[in-house]
Amino acid sequence: MHEPTVEISRRGVERVRRGHLWVYRTDVRRTEDVAPGEVVRVVDGRGWFVGRAFYSQTSSITLRMLTLEDVPVDDAFFAARLDAALALRDALGFGPDEAVRLVHAEGDLLPGLVVDRYADVLVVQTLNQGADARRERFYDLLSERLAPRAIVERNDAKVRGYEGLALRKSVVRGEAPGEVSFREGPLDLLADPLEGQKTGGFLDQRENRRVAARWVRPGDRCLDAFSYTGGFALHMAHAGGKVTAVDVSAPALEEGRRSATRNGLEVDFVEANAFDWLKAASVEGAEYDTVVLDPPAFARSKKALEGAIRGYKEVNLRGIQILARGGTLVTCSCSHAMDEGLLLDTVLSAAADAGRRLQVLERRGAGRDHPILLGVPETGYLKCIVLRRVD
Ligand code: SAH
Repeated sequence: MHEPTVEISRRGVERVRRGHLWVYRTDVRRTEDVAPGEVVRVVDGRGWFVGRAFYSQTSSITLRMLTLEDVPVDDAFFAARLDAALALRDALGFGPDEAVRLVHAEGDLLPGLVVDRYADVLVVQTLNQGADARRERFYDLLSERLAPRAIVERNDAKVRGYEGLALRKSVVRGEAPGEVSFREGPLDLLADPLEGQKTGGFLDQRENRRVAARWVRPGDRCLDAFSYTGGFALHMAHAGGKVTAVDVSAPALEEGRRSATRNGLEVDFVEANAFDWLKAASVEGAEYDTVVLDPPAFARSKKALEGAIRGYKEVNLRGIQILARGGTLVTCSCSHAMDEGLLLDTVLSAAADAGRRLQVLERRGAGRDHPILLGVPETGYLKCIVLRRVD
């Protein structure tokens, strides 16, 4: 069978050799007719083999490298990659009733493939043409290995637009799962794989939610801003905190209220724009012993970064203004473009404006089921910094 070949520039080759998996259209020199999502042979200017990659016809990221070895990219290849990803999660030791990211796309050398498990329900995203063309195969491989009650496709992520792929969500194996309950440490939480945000929840913050609660003493006043279904809030309430959770999404808050009831906990869930709410709280002189700030990705690209920095600055300024002396600030950013240094600079600038001094207690990222592939910084997008107000 003829294998289409794509020639890339020296710069493209260097980037790939340094460990990145993406080759941009500007580094593609020559290409044959390639079908969307086909696997291509990647060569340098002299025609020498560089590797094999998924090809995208429409994205500015034309190639996603699959391997730098001259091996066939067939069903067995993907099955082995999947097994390696599953083996890591086995090693991390998740129970059957917990929620875990089983495949973290590029982070697991499976570009564009995301698989989250909520107890016995799998949620899958195929975010580029290569992964999408093989989605049925992935469903089969996952069914054979994990025998889930259902597999839900959450291909309504906007990034699929760059790939010319339709946005859709549906149940692709088994019956509609409805709201799924799963364990997170001491809590029994809920996620709606079909209707919730992302794949139903934010699994990347799992470990950070428990870390935040570790700093809470009984009776502490706690705020969970941008709470979604109140993951941080519920853990803090379990630690004995008096917790307020603020989010703009009414369905997320409703789910949070149901979770609170199931766990016999009390949380005040407030539907509001967190920017307005924080500002009003600061004007009123409210005080909290723990403040969690977990806003959505303000910067989806480098270009949007300036506006994003203003957003993070505002949120952090307000959060710091309402933080009691000795209190804990848990500040997060899931924008890849906002790296840890920039986030710390922004927090510092907010602290300076507020006339406060902060101490860094912990610098964290996503949970260990979201491996960062060295060379692909985009796989390490989440920052979660724990600070304490010392003055
Ligand atoms: N902390 C959550 C995840 C938060 S994701 C967890 O651990 O599960 C970001 C949240 O911000 C989403 O729930 C979204 O609904 C909310 N959001 C986005 N813009 C907002 C705004 N202006 N005010 C309040 N909430 C907002």
